[in-house]
Amino acid sequence: MQFYRPDEYRHVSYRWDDAHAAKLDPVERLVYRSNILGDDQRITNTGGGNTSSKIMMPDPLTGEQVEIMWVKGSGGDLRTSKRANFASLYMDKLMSLQAIYNMASEKGVKTPIEDQMVDMYLHTVYNLNPRATSIDTPLHAFIPYKHVDHTHPNAVIAIAACSRGKELTREIYGDAVVWVDWQRPGFDLGLILQETIAAHPGIQGIILGAHGLINWANDDKACYELTLTLIERAARYLEARDKGAGIFGGAKFQSLPDDQRAKLLIDVLPTLRGMVSQQNRFIATIQSDETILQFVNSHDAARLAELGTSCPDHFLRTKIKPLYVDWDPQREDTASLVNKLESGIAQYRVDYAAYYQACKRANSPAMRDPNPTVILIPGVGMVAFGKNKSESRVTAEFYNCAVEVMRGAEAVGQYVALPRQEAFDIEYWLLEEAKLRRMPPEKSLERNVVLVIGAGSGIGKSAAHRVAKEGAHVVCADLNLEAAQGTADELTKIYGMGIGVAGTGISGCGPAIGLSVNVTKRESIRALLDQVLLAYGGIDNVIVTAGVFVSPDKTGHVTDDQWRLTFDVNVLGGYLVADEARSIWEAQKLRGTLVLTTSVNGAVAKKGSVAYDTSKAAANHLVREMAVELAPLVRVNGLAPATVVEGSTMFPRDRVISSLVKYNIPHSEDEDTESLRSKLANFYAQRTLTKLPITPEDQAEVAYLLSTDAFAKTTGQIFSVDGGLVEAFLR
Ligand SMILES: [Zn+2]
Repeated sequence: MQFYRPDEYRHVSYRWDDAHAAKLDPVERLVYRSNILGDDQRITNTGGGNTSSKIMMPDPLTGEQVEIMWVKGSGGDLRTSKRANFASLYMDKLMSLQAIYNMASEKGVKTPIEDQMVDMYLHTVYNLNPRATSIDTPLHAFIPYKHVDHTHPNAVIAIAACSRGKELTREIYGDAVVWVDWQRPGFDLGLILQETIAAHPGIQGIILGAHGLINWANDDKACYELTLTLIERAARYLEARDKGAGIFGGAKFQSLPDDQRAKLLIDVLPTLRGMVSQQNRFIATIQSDETILQFVNSHDAARLAELGTSCPDHFLRTKIKPLYVDWDPQREDTASLVNKLESGIAQYRVDYAAYYQACKRANSPAMRDPNPTVILIPGVGMVAFGKNKSESRVTAEFYNCAVEVMRGAEAVGQYVALPRQEAFDIEYWLLEEAKLRRMPPEKSLERNVVLVIGAGSGIGKSAAHRVAKEGAHVVCADLNLEAAQGTADELTKIYGMGIGVAGTGISGCGPAIGLSVNVTKRESIRALLDQVLLAYGGIDNVIVTAGVFVSPDKTGHVTDDQWRLTFDVNVLGGYLVADEARSIWEAQKLRGTLVLTTSVNGAVAKKGSVAYDTSKAAANHLVREMAVELAPLVRVNGLAPATVVEGSTMFPRDRVISSLVKYNIPHSEDEDTESLRSKLANFYAQRTLTKLPITPEDQAEVAYLLSTDAFAKTTGQIFSVDGGLVEAFLR
């Protein structure tokens, strides 16, 4: 087949660089090829597809040159794969497995011997490479060429999932590519590929019905260029026949204007997230671009959505089908949408249970969460759910792939989804179940959205770091936007954006976002919460550390305005946050937590901080009042720190110096602030029972624990983290 020239590709990006490849060893060249294939979403989806090279290497025992197949192993993603993501297996041993398979009395797809062969791959491992092999291994091994690429390109899947797939394959590729009917990947499909190639000498690739593309060459660059050429050909074929605005039967509804759509989403997201999260909490990603809107607004969307998703890779995330909500954005209101979401999800669960019952086998794993993970709303777009932000983005990406596939397939024939039983046998495959069981246990705040107010510095910043470490999605909010963004950036840097390609707009965010808020203004808090909903779909835990200490003047007098500011921030602020978050918690119907930061000063009267101390006493009682108000859904507890001087904006230089003067602690006005702070912190430590200086991390630890089920049965309490101050003991 004639390859396109590098500058001719319009539907995939050509990335091969000879100079770079020349510097790499054969395995590194495979990693390189994989990365540049995986980097283009039009070539393969996140986590989908695999690549291999059969390479001569020395046997570690004999030193003899032997043929080793390096093949992308289980898990991981082509785009980000490294050498460690590839399994390495002896070719001669892999081929010898065929004899064992053929000796089985019962063989073929889905027979017990097929899955048993997976354990046999362990006997073929070269050089103790611990990478688990994928179920696609035999597809690569039994193809008698050095290099093999298996990809899931939308353009090719459109052909593979089209009623006319077989004839289209011939029309597009002539004799160069052959069609093989759908069969679940595994040992038997590997043998079918081997036979197909033997029966059609000289073919360069195979379209796997309802699945994807596999092609090969004896040169790695040629294999790469062949992959691109085959995809480009299919894409050009579809492009020439694209129905434009007429696709999917044309538009039935119009998209809502941006502001109306955002308002609607803000109104329905807490309810929607709550409904799908009754078994397991989910994080949302919203998509409202032209591509998805064209689909959800179309006449055919309801019919096509019902058919289900397009690629076997997708089922575990997108579920068998999305929930299409039959709601008219031009004629119906928000209340009607909420009603239809409620009834739609209820029906979805019933349908899912029926699908499970109809398809299950004697040894099938128990039914999984029956809630939809993809919700399609006309006029609005798509809401996709996953166990974390990254997973929800991949769910969204996968359904976009399905839309692209349907767009192509419906342009040249009819989109055909996998039969339900086949989909079930993928979704509930025992090998997939084993993979799920191998996953590390979830962290305590995974699946949660934690809002930390005051996250720009001090205790709030430490709390943001602490909860992020437990898997939380963290909304870093602060009066100072730059400081909030700084903390969010630190978290994103540590934990990464995850798999899936970053989206645009606030919903395309990573595990943390930075937002500004003024807790004394209800509108400001409302605006903050709206952004949180659009970013993640809901809120689980709120930690408020924002507070203010207004230093009295030299005479020790606190002005009326200072009193008002102190109470506005330290008391009213906590109340407004709780009051505004309340409607979200109630709509979600999921348990949540609120931690308000008070102070040991709320219990200890002393000279020089009358407004602050009084406000903190009120904040302590606010904790109790809100615990009563928000029960049983939300637990409310107070964190009462003492004298956290390190990194605290509550201890600006002038306050530190005035305290040092007050306690007669020797110091010089020339010393830097941190050194002065450390003197004060050590002085304070000596007043405690434990004699330990108190850090923001100490406070963050308790704020974190109060947000978890460790304190599931405690609400309305104040926890002092003060090193042990006898005078602050609560009575
Ligand atoms: Zn595949």
